[in-house]
Amino acid sequence: MKETWNVLYRGSLSSCNYGCPYCPFAKTRNTRAELEKDRAALNSFVDWVEQQAPRSMGILFTPWGEALVRSYYQEAFTRLSWMPHVYRVAAQTNLSFQTEWLSNVCTDTAGLWATYHPGETTQERFLDACEHLTRLHIRFSVGVVGLKEHIPQMEVLRTELPEHIYLWVNAYKRDDAYYAPEDIERIRRVDPYFGFNAVAYPSRDLPCRAGSTSFTVDAQGDVRRCHFIPKVIGNISDPHFASLLRPTLCTNDRCRCHIGYIHRIDPNLYALFSKGILDRIPEDWPNIQPSFSNRAALQETQLLPPTNSRVQESYPAHESPFS
Ligand code: SF4
Ligand code: SF4
Repeated sequence: MKETWNVLYRGSLSSCNYGCPYCPFAKTRNTRAELEKDRAALNSFVDWVEQQAPRSMGILFTPWGEALVRSYYQEAFTRLSWMPHVYRVAAQTNLSFQTEWLSNVCTDTAGLWATYHPGETTQERFLDACEHLTRLHIRFSVGVVGLKEHIPQMEVLRTELPEHIYLWVNAYKRDDAYYAPEDIERIRRVDPYFGFNAVAYPSRDLPCRAGSTSFTVDAQGDVRRCHFIPKVIGNISDPHFASLLRPTLCTNDRCRCHIGYIHRIDPNLYALFSKGILDRIPEDWPNIQPSFSNRAALQETQLLPPTNSRVQESYPAHESPFS
């Protein structure tokens, strides 16, 4: 049986209806012609996915901007969701779109990675959108960029969201000494797996699924092993493209982003997320897996130094972080 592929698609779309100050993308406006080009590329990608049946596939849209406000992304997402060999279609989104179109997607496969951006929308409006998703039976995770000034809002979000919705926090890693121990303690009460995101994983010469069973595709159909290594390894228009995929050691010094390190062999986050690997939903959530949430487990993987880590001891398995 052919192995499952997890594919990250990033087209040429680069515009967003938000203007988050911490965002390195989406500072452009796309012309009508650019959007047409992006639409054609996306449709070619979806056609290609269709042709890969019966190989099991998961697709994650990782746009440079906000894609789901565009009807052609909504149509592509819907079409992919109904393909029998697609086990998951997911998208990173700010959840600012009208949700009605989601009533046409297959709820077994569709999943959203929804980020709340304080300053760009109100918490009330964001939570309303989450409620719509729940009414439509759409699976989703919610996330926040882990700026210290966002901590109070994360805490309120955690209280307001239903317990079965996983709320993740992306660590701010531009400054090593950014968090005080008490900040980390508060964030881990919101996201017990924050420790995994707070690490800039040493990666050079270490094994990773990126380049074998996970890879990225761009608007030209060019394939790279991940978003962080620019070298093109093939193109999906090549009928022999699959033969170019093989296990390869990482050539970067560090792997910092969730959409990268989840594909590493160690730590084995496929065991934590399973079929939620692309929409960022731990398989057993809201149960917390102690082997992934406690400090000792992180140290065993040598991802956290034993003495100077600021990540604190986590919750016992029976204790809810919501209390
Ligand atoms: S919503 Fe996302 S893509 Fe848009 S500006 Fe904010 S971080 Fe950037
Ligand atoms: S470890 Fe990270 S940077 Fe290296 S190949 Fe894997 S995803 Fe890419």
